[in-house]
Amino acid sequence: MKITKIEARKVRYTSVMVRDAEGHAHPGEPHDATLRLLTVVCDDGTEGYAVSGKMVMDIINNVVGPALIGEDPFFRERIWQRMRTWQRLHSSFTDHTLCALDAALWDICGKKCGQPVYRLLGAYRDKVPAYGSIMVGDDIPGGLDTPQAYADYAVKLVKRGYKAIKLHTWMPPIIPEPDPKLDIKACAAVREAVGPDIELMLDPYHDYSRSQAYYLAKELEKLNFLWLEEPMDESSMSSYRWLSEQSNLLICGPETMDGKNRTRAEWILANASDIGRAGVEDNGGITNVIKSVHLYESFGMSLELHDNQLGNLHVLGAMGIEGKYFERGLLHPLIDYEKPNPLFNSIYDPMDEEGMVTIPSVPGLGWDLNWDYINDNFI
Ligand code: MG
Repeated sequence: MKITKIEARKVRYTSVMVRDAEGHAHPGEPHDATLRLLTVVCDDGTEGYAVSGKMVMDIINNVVGPALIGEDPFFRERIWQRMRTWQRLHSSFTDHTLCALDAALWDICGKKCGQPVYRLLGAYRDKVPAYGSIMVGDDIPGGLDTPQAYADYAVKLVKRGYKAIKLHTWMPPIIPEPDPKLDIKACAAVREAVGPDIELMLDPYHDYSRSQAYYLAKELEKLNFLWLEEPMDESSMSSYRWLSEQSNLLICGPETMDGKNRTRAEWILANASDIGRAGVEDNGGITNVIKSVHLYESFGMSLELHDNQLGNLHVLGAMGIEGKYFERGLLHPLIDYEKPNPLFNSIYDPMDEEGMVTIPSVPGLGWDLNWDYINDNFI
């Protein structure tokens, strides 16, 4: 089996999400936007896909794609190791781009074997609990503009079935200065509203000082939160080790540090966090995140997966309870998360009333692509 064609193309759609100056998403007026669809074709006609807003098409179509023609997609590890080394001198060969290629190869292999990817990885479970991951705070009436707005929305999420909720609170430019006391007001309002049995987590502004992060950890401990995620610049591993030592609250990270599984190994060695973090779209793809899964398990640590990527569902299906939750979101009172983007016939992470997401059971990753729409909207 050989790869014969690799192509990334843009597909237009109408988005109701806008990004602020710091890159955080909020509801906004409808406007033109694009997603990128990667297609990898094999000589027997099998096709693998990845969909992402972040892959860099030029490096796929002109550099990496041509170099992978003729490779056997089942040699995923060899291909992954080669791609990892190419990243050193190709600055536009980002992890998001490598991850898309890796995902498409797993999609092909699942289809060829007639199995969903999580069963190829070694299945542990076929459904996973989700937490509702609430969007970064805003100043939109009816949105997430006050601590009470978070509390009211959290009650709705619990009614929907969520047994766990994570808050992203206010950050610049929505507020002029990050404010840990305001974060705690939102967290306290949510705890008060949902009661003691719902697990809660906080993912606040990511560049607090040690003392600000320490304040958050101490207050969240009183509110019986499960973890505090990325409250400081992750370049400073020492700051995370300091915070983890000072606090009884579980500290979760690293999320955004590059270096893939090797960075995770360094953080474990330094006791820099209590819970690990990695995601299939920004930490080297499924092939690499599985390395991190086994790494954390070997040290008796939990690993919580970042983002709502389809590949994360499959990795969760292949790991034990060290990975407790699927991150479902981002969620907002004015956005209908259950409505699929027009590129898809259905969402891949439907959740039942008990807060459980069933992992797609069709061969491959389980993209439910709407080809009529896609073919009419290629750019
Ligand atoms: Mg995070």
